[in-house]
Amino acid sequence: MSALSTRIQNLSESATIKMAKLGRELAAKGVDVISLSFGEPDFHTPEHIKEAAKQAMDKNFTYYTPVAGYPELRKAVVAKLKNENNLDYDFSEIVVSTGAKQAIANAVLCLVNPGEEVIIPTPYWVSYSEVVKLAEGTSVFINTTVDTNFKITPEQLEAAITPNTKLFMFSSPCNPTGSVYSKDELEGLAKVFEKHPHVYILSDEIYEHINFVDKHESIAQFDYIKDRVVIINGWSKAFAMTGWRIGYTASTKELASAFDKMQGQVTSGTCSITQRAGVAAYEGGLESVLEMRAAFKKRRDIVYKLLSEIEGIKVNLPDGAFYFFPNVTSFFGKSYEGRVINDSDDLSLYLLEEGHVATVGGDSFGDPSSIRLSYAAAEDTLIEAMRRLKEALGKLA
Ligand code: PMP
Ligand code: GLU
Repeated sequence: MSALSTRIQNLSESATIKMAKLGRELAAKGVDVISLSFGEPDFHTPEHIKEAAKQAMDKNFTYYTPVAGYPELRKAVVAKLKNENNLDYDFSEIVVSTGAKQAIANAVLCLVNPGEEVIIPTPYWVSYSEVVKLAEGTSVFINTTVDTNFKITPEQLEAAITPNTKLFMFSSPCNPTGSVYSKDELEGLAKVFEKHPHVYILSDEIYEHINFVDKHESIAQFDYIKDRVVIINGWSKAFAMTGWRIGYTASTKELASAFDKMQGQVTSGTCSITQRAGVAAYEGGLESVLEMRAAFKKRRDIVYKLLSEIEGIKVNLPDGAFYFFPNVTSFFGKSYEGRVINDSDDLSLYLLEEGHVATVGGDSFGDPSSIRLSYAAAEDTLIEAMRRLKEALGKLA
């Protein structure tokens, strides 16, 4: 019998991290692997942010910080929410965490009791359902498909809510589909939540700045539900700061105090130097963010054209984030040299081993009909990756 708790035994390994690891292992054996598995910007952190971190060390910002983050940083978040999103928060309502990942874990663990239901539209980011498992909650999925641009309707939401629903979790722009909810679409959902005051909403807005259609819209803008919304956001994607580990929640003071208490027992405040860099990022303007967004848009267009040309692939044009989530069911049941592709995980492994392109199977995103490709890579690399995909998929018969 394993000494490990059932909690950890029941938890799945993060599929994004697993595929990135497999890709790296193959590369270490000398294989030229193109990694489209891991969702992280390939840009360097902008210079002025790195400079602020160097100065933080020189100025001895090297001690424990308040658990929820330096007040100056939380005030910078409040200013950002006001200036960019027209949302009013007090700095006591902001909790800075070790990445948006910890912010999500705080929210779920502080809100969900064992057996309570958490509604998650599929496909969803891999960690959502796993954190719900840690909280011993029950995930209730609303399935969407490429045909509806992977968005849910108010009617689907209404039908999924029960007296036992505690939380609704979603991302817009969405990882893994790139779908972006418009203001009208969010309002449609908000009106449903208005009728069900026992339901909280976790709104993951980490891809806010990688939006090719419109200005970002947050579901927290609807005053009649704002006190039940937990905004998740961070620096990883907007400022290419994945390794720095910094994210935040904006919520009510009551919830913020709970997140602070939780974090105080698990990690304390995130790295002091990172926090100083976070202030510089928010005070330094959006120039670098806009440059990165323009590069992502160009890449999206290149990949969309090439992917659409591959026979058997069904794909939508994502409005944001940096992922494609093409439907690959037409390849199921096909084989190459005796290797049969039964599902999207098989296909993802086949593409890694035969095509030397790392992707992630859709199963862990709650949608086994598709695979996820990250296009956070240089244009030449993406063109070569699409050539390899086409070749490897073309071999399946
Ligand atoms: N939410 C989504 C939708 C993500 O894709 C990610 C991936 N990084 C996170 C949260 C976590 O981000 P962070 O690096 O800030 O922990
Ligand atoms: N969010 C990224 C992804 O979806 C990074 C991996 C992770 O944090 O799980 O690939």
